[in-house]
Amino acid sequence: STDKGEKKYILAIDQGTTSTRAIVFDHAGQIVATGQKEHEQIFPKAGWVEHDPIEIWKNLRSVVAEAMSAAEINRHALAAVGITNQRETAVVWDKTTGEPVYNAIVWQDTRTQKICDRLAGDEGAEKYKERVGLPLATYFSGPKIAWILENVEGAKEKAEAGDLLFGNTDSWLVWNMTGGVEGGVHVTDVTNASRTMLMNIDTLDWNEDIAKDMGIPMSMLPEIKSSSEVYGHGRKNGLLIDTPIAGILGDQQAATFGQACFEVGMAKNTYGTGNFMLINTGEELVHSENGLLTTVAYKIGDSKPIYALEGSVAVTGSLVQWVRDNLGLITDAPEIEELAKKVDDNGGCYIVPAFSGLFAPHWKSDARGAIVGLTRYITKNHIARAALESTAFQSREVLDAMNADSGVELTELKVDGGMVKNETLMQFQADILGVPVVRPKVIETTALGAAYAAGIAVGFWDGEQDVIDNWAEDKRWEPQMDEETRARYMRLWKKAIERTLDWVD
Ligand code: ADP
Repeated sequence: STDKGEKKYILAIDQGTTSTRAIVFDHAGQIVATGQKEHEQIFPKAGWVEHDPIEIWKNLRSVVAEAMSAAEINRHALAAVGITNQRETAVVWDKTTGEPVYNAIVWQDTRTQKICDRLAGDEGAEKYKERVGLPLATYFSGPKIAWILENVEGAKEKAEAGDLLFGNTDSWLVWNMTGGVEGGVHVTDVTNASRTMLMNIDTLDWNEDIAKDMGIPMSMLPEIKSSSEVYGHGRKNGLLIDTPIAGILGDQQAATFGQACFEVGMAKNTYGTGNFMLINTGEELVHSENGLLTTVAYKIGDSKPIYALEGSVAVTGSLVQWVRDNLGLITDAPEIEELAKKVDDNGGCYIVPAFSGLFAPHWKSDARGAIVGLTRYITKNHIARAALESTAFQSREVLDAMNADSGVELTELKVDGGMVKNETLMQFQADILGVPVVRPKVIETTALGAAYAAGIAVGFWDGEQDVIDNWAEDKRWEPQMDEETRARYMRLWKKAIERTLDWVD
């Protein structure tokens, strides 16, 4: 049926670092049903992180089926599908076979350091910053594509013959969802493209000179689209046949959208594998002097792009995973709060989780993690507390950079992501920031943002005002710490950071 009245839902797909989720949202922006599946984290060497793109595509199909069956709907009930994804993670595949030529190289992966150093040459890490808004760092997609072309046998030749395609996981999935080798569309949106180091941040076109520096043929790159428009329709033999795929936003931009940060100066912080704080700078493109990235926040159809400054922190929730999996101090993530609550403070212990170097605001790729301030007094409870606190300290450093770049003081911070269920962390975060921390009712803001982008494109929602109207506060934490204590924490944190620098031999 094509009766519009039956199309009551939007399906959002959230292809994250640790899992792939499908969420069915209703018109009020409420979650109706969810499907979720984790995928394998592949660590072939120290500093390398990979995902299997085929596994991710399989998981997508399985979570879509799971969510739709839980919601007791079929595609006729869906007005559109929106996608949000882990950004920067690079997939290169053969368009003639549909097979990836290598695993996806994940955003946290540091193997491209030598390529970045080579590209930087005498000009240093800021070489492309004016053009793309980003410092040269292993984080971004471009150097990862270069690595695949330089290291996978036959890849360079195939790429030059026009047989290989590149994408972040949004492009990879949309290509497959729209038919793959049988006519799949090869697209991405401006927010994902802004994380490749290959897109001009002002004109939103690919930069051919930078692609050439990296040895990447232009034929590999997807077409850059807005974040909210119909890119294509579900393939013939899938569950989503003929359903418009109408929204793409990188995960952090999607969360910014889902948190209704539409006015200049509004900011959100997402607590997931890493932490990502974005502040809306409107139609103005602000170049950071304090270690933040200039990125596209979103672009709705033909409207002008809206920009953001971003503070990306590589390791926050993944430190909790490390405490669980590598130290074995806890059996699941929420348990870290129980341990942390057994002690009044960190006992002088600080953990700097510089597992992939330090991202914002330091951008030190040769830093490595440290646990400092150890005495005979420290217990696993202090370690648990220090692990949680490291997330709060890193967010404070990013907020300071935002205040410095924007010249205005942020008055409150909207938060979301898996870690914000941790109330001990949220209180400490408010204490360390000195501003209230506000959690919305729907913390799946990433998926929600993608749903809104898709729904707006097909007229299911009218525009940003619907997002604002549907946003609701769940809980707010007020700062309770005195300024002197706060300053002491930050002083010791900065000393701890110093201990991690210049470590790689
Ligand atoms: P992503 O989208 O990056 O995959 P999520 O937003 O799902 O991540 O958040 C999951 C992360 O949050 C994991 O790294 C996990 O360790 C952490 N986490 C989940 N629950 C808690 C908790 N109660 N306390 C601390 N950390 C948590």
